[in-house]
Amino acid sequence: MTQARSPLDYLHDPRLNKGTGFTEEERDRLGLRGLLPPRVTNLADQKERILENFRRKPSPLEQYIYLTSLQDRNEHLFYQVLMEHIEEMMPVIYTPTVGEACVRFGHIFRRPRGLYVTARDRGRVRTLLRHWPEPDVAMLVVTDGERILGLGDLGANGMGIPIGKLALYTACAGVDPARCLPVAIDVGTDRGDLLEDPLYLGLHQPRLRGPAYDELLEEFVAAVSEVFPRAVIQFEDFATENAVRLLARYRDRACCFNDDIQGTAGVVLAGLLSAGRVTGQPLVEQRVLFLGAGAAATGIAQLVTAAMTRDGLPEAEARARCSLVDEQGLLTADRPGLPEFRRRWAHPHAPVPDLAGAVEALRPTVLIGVSGAAGAFTETVIRAMARANPRPIIFPLSNPTSKAECTAEQAYTWSEGRAIVATGSPFGPVEWRGRRFIPGQGNNAYIFPGVGLGVIVSGARRVTDGMFHAAARTLAGAVQEPELAEGRLFPPLREIRSVSATIAAAVAEVAFAEGLATVPRPADLARAVAASMYDGSYPSYA
Ligand code: NAD
Repeated sequence: MTQARSPLDYLHDPRLNKGTGFTEEERDRLGLRGLLPPRVTNLADQKERILENFRRKPSPLEQYIYLTSLQDRNEHLFYQVLMEHIEEMMPVIYTPTVGEACVRFGHIFRRPRGLYVTARDRGRVRTLLRHWPEPDVAMLVVTDGERILGLGDLGANGMGIPIGKLALYTACAGVDPARCLPVAIDVGTDRGDLLEDPLYLGLHQPRLRGPAYDELLEEFVAAVSEVFPRAVIQFEDFATENAVRLLARYRDRACCFNDDIQGTAGVVLAGLLSAGRVTGQPLVEQRVLFLGAGAAATGIAQLVTAAMTRDGLPEAEARARCSLVDEQGLLTADRPGLPEFRRRWAHPHAPVPDLAGAVEALRPTVLIGVSGAAGAFTETVIRAMARANPRPIIFPLSNPTSKAECTAEQAYTWSEGRAIVATGSPFGPVEWRGRRFIPGQGNNAYIFPGVGLGVIVSGARRVTDGMFHAAARTLAGAVQEPELAEGRLFPPLREIRSVSATIAAAVAEVAFAEGLATVPRPADLARAVAASMYDGSYPSYA
């Protein structure tokens, strides 16, 4: 194998390259002598050089470009640095900076990464998948670019999202990067400014919709099952109606999930379980009010209902404990035109026009903001929550920070320091009357990497709600008592790899219990998970 490669392959293939880290023996053996500066650099010094350059960049976007270039030339070093500095670098390779990178995708483009399947590829999607050079894809993240973060339709520019998410699969859960495939389904864009941009790299056409869109997606899912039969498909950043529809269509036919719906639900359920550890109030006694009735709200409501049902509550009673408010007020049973995925949470009730009225009428124990409506958790709303509950649970989850329903500080201040808070965007510690609170950040990266790894390790044929429930319970259980006392509902991000490994083992356990696994159960599941994790080590050419 090695003989067939030229010396330059070892320098130019990011998976073979060790940069100045090739040893003296390797330089001789591989014909690299003279092609590198003479000094052999150890890994610690290589990482130091990367950090120095990274921190010198003048903006997060420049840091993103720098890290992308590193990924393109020395993949192992990229992951080593990312794993060690995950708290510093996650906001660069993922939200918020990845959003800016997507907006500017055609302008900052260097090297292609991932697979593009376009509206013109009907009838040849299998062939495209076979063009992918890696034979054993395990994790595939796909977007059609219509609802990129809070930025809306970005067409083919959305490719930055699957790339970033898969980097997190590797950094947070050790999924081998050679087994990760980012996919952009380019069906056009309805954004005029992109279509007029000469540097935009996607199809120049309005979005394909209706049966032609569905047929392309159908061909794609069928082709993945055929070409990469062991792969998990993660749907990402589709517009709400398509996200809900595609998940309903494929969840029982393919090994797939939607992170915006199910991953979000997993991390929020974990937050609720952690909050329950603080208040001593079990999940089945919570009354949850959502601001927003979209993919995130209905996904969370679905998983919370399932979790309450598992804890012994009849399904109808569990559903009745979740209520939704949107721009028109409380969703009630007599609201006309509600699609089924919202109707499940529309209960018989007199009309309530707004959130403040709904808090007064329903006296929820939990308030979750997934509306993108900045400032919607007003002082009136938070004070009403604090009047109704000794420890109100308040999760303003909308991203980015500018869209949050309230700040962490507002939630603590207006509740007289009694609120239990998780946010979508990162907020720093809050000092209030001599007390210090650290709000939890409900980052989906706590859930999806571990779930994906658990599905891969067990060879599960489907991804189920039971797996997200197990992931949420495991995540909540990973928070230490002193962390809870500070207000944290999630473990520190720097522990993400061990947390993901524990989640993966719990998820695999569900796959075995539900009869979905396709491999024999290892005697020591935790050890099997750990052994499967990529750690960024350089290959040895000795
Ligand atoms: P979506 O577009 O599917 O849903 C948004 C919902 O909010 C819709 O039902 C809409 O009717 C409602 N809404 C909009 N403006 C409103 C207003 N002024 N008052 C009341 N309701 C209003 O989007 P989504 O995927 O459900 O995401 C919603 C928000 O949640 C986004 O800001 C996203 O960033 C955030 N989110 C956070 C996390 C996380 O923190 N882990 C995960 C997923 C989504």
